[in-house]
Amino acid sequence: MKIGCPKEIKPQEFRVGMTPAAVREAVNRGHAVVVETKAGEGAGFTDADYIAAGATVGSVDDVFAADMVVKVKEPQPGERKRLRKGQVLFTYLHLAPDPEQTADLLASGVTAIAYETVTDDRGGLPLLAPMSEVAGRLSPQVGAWTLQKANGGRGVLLGGVPGVLPAKVLVIGGGVVGTHAAKVAAGMGADVTVLDRSVNRLRYLDDVFGRDFKNAYADAATTLELAREADLIIGAVLIPGAAAPKLIKADQLKLLKPGAALVDVAIDQGGCFETSKATTHQDPIYAVDGIMHYCVANMPGAVARTSTLALGNATMPFMLALADKGWKKACAEDKHLLAGLNTHAGKLTYAAVGVALGLPT
Ligand code: NAD
Repeated sequence: MKIGCPKEIKPQEFRVGMTPAAVREAVNRGHAVVVETKAGEGAGFTDADYIAAGATVGSVDDVFAADMVVKVKEPQPGERKRLRKGQVLFTYLHLAPDPEQTADLLASGVTAIAYETVTDDRGGLPLLAPMSEVAGRLSPQVGAWTLQKANGGRGVLLGGVPGVLPAKVLVIGGGVVGTHAAKVAAGMGADVTVLDRSVNRLRYLDDVFGRDFKNAYADAATTLELAREADLIIGAVLIPGAAAPKLIKADQLKLLKPGAALVDVAIDQGGCFETSKATTHQDPIYAVDGIMHYCVANMPGAVARTSTLALGNATMPFMLALADKGWKKACAEDKHLLAGLNTHAGKLTYAAVGVALGLPT
């Protein structure tokens, strides 16, 4: 099969759909890979790296002529015009809130498999998890930076120093993001508490991380009590398919420590603090009532190389199955890959997208 990997054109997107390692695996199995020139630049991979891995480097036309296109972000309008029936597109799509993209994919007839709806045996989303791991581990790092005095924060060091107590970090939501956030914050020496509404999840956190950080049930009273004592609060909740619940209200900011930092990782679902609004890597923080907010919606983009490698590890087995077997056989043999199928030959094949957009599936 001929596989194409374009340079991402969405603003501020520096990741790339295939690493040189993924190219090498595909080439070793007899596939031909064409990578758009400079596609890997933002993630630190040169054209020479791809050529050394066995790819050819070509134009965007060459890439979209391939049988399968492997990307990171949803195809932009110009890219959508290049898609065609009989071609496979493997990338993040997020169709539910995007009727224009959905209409274009259906009109093109492309077979589109979305990273975000591929499932695994444990009921998880294996191609979303790596980005939650990145955002989670990054959140204490950006929170520590936000807490610095020059950035408007309280001027406290997460780990303290001998004779000075560490900062208090409250992580709300103990899923993938929250667990990775808590591990890194605890590793930096902070005094960490994780809140969740799932008692089973709290049991797991207690069993595995009981010596590293504390946990408590996330009722409203406990959340506010611990928020008042915190230097850094990391918002990491998710209610699948719904907007994030607002766990700290605007009128409660005055109860927090002056200069405390809120890192709202859940901002891509609307944010879990009432005063959160999406920010960018260029201008990531702002203050409301003296409380610093960090609300970057695409946190993994800050570490494009790590994110590309993590995403590449997770997508590689599926990409190889699609290339080796063709999408029909690969999806027939793997219900988790089949769960990723969103459009095929002008038909919407993912029920939740159909419900969201009022379209038949
Ligand atoms: P997850 O499903 O693994 O974990 C979410 C956790 O939140 C669950 O354990 C759930 O029980 C808990 N929860 C739900 N409601 C709660 C409440 N009211 N109080 C306390 N806990 C509650 O999800 P995840 O992968 O960790 O993702 C968390 C959020 O981070 C999502 O909104 C996701 O979209 C977002 N995210 C953002 C970025 C970014 O760049 N900003 C990157 C990756 C993920």
